[in-house]
Amino acid sequence: MTDSLDDLAMEIRRCKQCPLHQTRRQAVPGVGPVTADVFLLGEAPGEEEDRKGRPFIGNTGKLMGRLVQNAGIDRRRLFISNTVRCRPPNNRDPLPDEMATCRQWTEKQLGIIKPKMIVTLGRFASAEYFPNLAMAEVRGCLTRSEGQLIFGSYHPAAALHQPTLRKRITEDFELIGEVIRRL
Ligand code: URA
Repeated sequence: MTDSLDDLAMEIRRCKQCPLHQTRRQAVPGVGPVTADVFLLGEAPGEEEDRKGRPFIGNTGKLMGRLVQNAGIDRRRLFISNTVRCRPPNNRDPLPDEMATCRQWTEKQLGIIKPKMIVTLGRFASAEYFPNLAMAEVRGCLTRSEGQLIFGSYHPAAALHQPTLRKRITEDFELIGEVIRRL
């Protein structure tokens, strides 16, 4: 039984349970301290993430970094991961089977970290926690399921390209900051 985040990360790096392992350079388990209060769940590693083994370090990651900073959120309060931990070829959408296989790692990371809140970024992460809801309904939704606070927002990559969404995701990160300060 794996009980440390580092051991779990090693297990994830060895994972060959879905076809994405055939095309990845390396798996991207996630980043953040075991004491994180908020678990940010993105979509999938891109090229830069696949190369360096860390999530959200490309252009989208830089935007997210600004959202986090502008909202006054201390990065040490965050654990950041993705619905699939290996880059889909040519950055295609993650497939339902790949997401279902990778969900075990999310559950195990959550079991170790026990965050106060999960934040789903975009439609793939949101589909895991808000099934059957359209993104417009998920966005800004703060709910509690089996004692776990879950908050839905847009994916920063969508917000990069659309000014209206950029404003909303900025507000969402401000709210996340507010929740963290009240924890
Ligand atoms: N980088 C990630 O790690 N995940 C995303 O969803 C987007 C960029």
